[in-house]
Amino acid sequence: MTSRLTDKFGRDITYLRLSVTDRCDLRCTYCMAENMTFLPRKDLLTLEELDELCSAFVARGVRKIRLTGGEPLVRKGLVGLIENLSRHLETGALDEITLTTNGTQLAKHAEALKSAGVERINLSLDSLDREVFHKLTRRDAIDQVMSGIEAALRAGLKIKINTVALKNSNATEISSIMEWAHSLGMDMTLIEVMPMGDIGEDRFDQYLPLTEVRENLEAKYTLIDTPLKTGGPARYVKIEETGGVLGFISPLTNNFCAGCNRVRVTCTGQIYMCLGQSDKVDLRAAIRSENPDDALTAALDRAMIYKPKSHDFKIDKPGAAPSVPRHMSLTGG
Ligand code: SAM
Ligand code: SF4
Repeated sequence: MTSRLTDKFGRDITYLRLSVTDRCDLRCTYCMAENMTFLPRKDLLTLEELDELCSAFVARGVRKIRLTGGEPLVRKGLVGLIENLSRHLETGALDEITLTTNGTQLAKHAEALKSAGVERINLSLDSLDREVFHKLTRRDAIDQVMSGIEAALRAGLKIKINTVALKNSNATEISSIMEWAHSLGMDMTLIEVMPMGDIGEDRFDQYLPLTEVRENLEAKYTLIDTPLKTGGPARYVKIEETGGVLGFISPLTNNFCAGCNRVRVTCTGQIYMCLGQSDKVDLRAAIRSENPDDALTAALDRAMIYKPKSHDFKIDKPGAAPSVPRHMSLTGG
């Protein structure tokens, strides 16, 4: 019997974010450059290996798995992977399998995801305006996303809208996106842009502190602090006027690392213990070794030692290099 995953600061790791591909059908300007170089397909873990890894985490106490990317729904066989993993939901070893998606492929997959055991998803959407969406994602795909949202709601999936607050793009649209989301019964979370990976433009021009967004919202709405805790970094308020919930993920203006319960694994099996640091351990080498069970146990134990106390993201001056060189699309948010 192997032990639970606990880091050297005593934090229990119960949440795995697994990036199933680094590829994406959008090119959000704050996430990646238009001519992004993706990993060779041959380096990716197979679906069987992804299952094996997830199961090893479940055996060591992980209760929640979020599949992400890149865009998880562009990975062939993803729904099948979830169907297989749902055996851990049935035994009660796992509480939840969920995913973060940009929604472009959701219309095709919503029903199957629900049948496979997914109850709720996070959907990233930064604008409701066709032109702003196009400029921001470099693709004219808002209709696909809207069809995806309709299909997901019809299938009975609960949706939380994630919106990155961007000074140079959606700053004036935030309250209308929130009203739209709440009118459809969807919660919303706002996110500060993080300095990850070279994107060919300056994050200083994009960065909008959520302290500022909150002040603007307070001028228009009644924000009631709620004790709602999802085990994540968001702080939540209820908006009295809409009846909906709004979360704030503020890695730059409000460090939340003390309660961190998560690790991230890339599609090539590298485990990163922190979004804002570069230490990693190679789990692919472990599962491809002669004695994968022991090698994986040892690799995960090593990873726990490397988990840092906190990230050190900063966006405080123009022209600075990203805090970490890898893109968010490698570890998936
Ligand atoms: N493609 C999927 C999507 O967009 O939902 C999943 C992967 S995406 C990398 C996960 C989340 O990270 C999205 O909500 C996206 O907006 C966010 N994200 C990407 N780059 C970011 C950055 N530099 N700072 C903050 N959030 C970022
Ligand atoms: Fe793709 Fe998501 Fe990155 Fe946008 S944020 S480019 S949808 S991975």
